[in-house]
Parts: sequence; C-alpha cells; structure tokens
Amino acid sequence: MNLKKIDHIGIAVANLQEALSFWETSLGIEPHGIEDVAERKVRTAFLSVGDTEIELLEPTSADSSIAKFIEKRGEGLNHIAIRVDDIEAALAELKAKGIQLIDETPRNGAGGSRIAFVHPKSTHGVLLELCERKQK
Ligand code: ZN
Repeated sequence: MNLKKIDHIGIAVANLQEALSFWETSLGIEPHGIEDVAERKVRTAFLSVGDTEIELLEPTSADSSIAKFIEKRGEGLNHIAIRVDDIEAALAELKAKGIQLIDETPRNGAGGSRIAFVHPKSTHGVLLELCERKQK
C-alpha cells in the first residue's frame, strides 16, 4: 500500500461559520473548498496548514454521522485522512488482513476525492479515512 502523507485532519463542528471565524481571525487561515457533500450530509471547509489540510465538517442533517458524533462526544477531532494512490487496492489489502472497514467500496468526498473509512475498532480508537485525489 502506497501511503503518501496525512491528507487532512477532520474536525466536527456544530456551526461552520463560527468555527471558520476562529481559524480566520485567530490564526489568519483563509478557508477554501467550502461545499456540501450530499452523500455524507455535511458542509465542509478546508484550511491549508503547510502541505496538509484541516477539514471542518458541519452536519446538514440530524441523521448525519457528524451530527451523531457531536451529540455523543461534542465538537472536536473526528478523523485523520491518509492519502493513497489507489484506494481500491488499499481497501482490498486491508480487507485481506482482516481489518474492519466502514466502507468496503469508496464513496465521494469533498473536492472530487474518493474516500473510505476504516473502523476505529481496528485502529485502536481513531477513525481513519483513506483518501484518493486526482491532482495535487
Ligand atoms: Zn475527511
């Protein structure tokens, strides 16, 4: 499996505008890639920090997994995403090793990415996202 780098760190927020105001005002980081990801029922914004990104995720529906996460654990660190070359190959390799996957096939993520989640039960408590991007 060809792991490229930490692509981004996902943070669940109750209110995207309020969260963005912290990042913009206090840290001087302008967001980009603000978009609704219908499949995941979230609105996302990306903030570049060096060559990695912070992804803020606001639920757009009460049955979004991010809404459930915030209800259960409050706002905060939700997932770490690792960039891979070939997401199907990475998933097949993990499955063959008996790793518990949330997504056995990739789904659409923000910014035209293809993503899949690995269950925290297999990763010692961290929700891990595999992320394949066409460019960058
Ligand atoms: Zn993510």
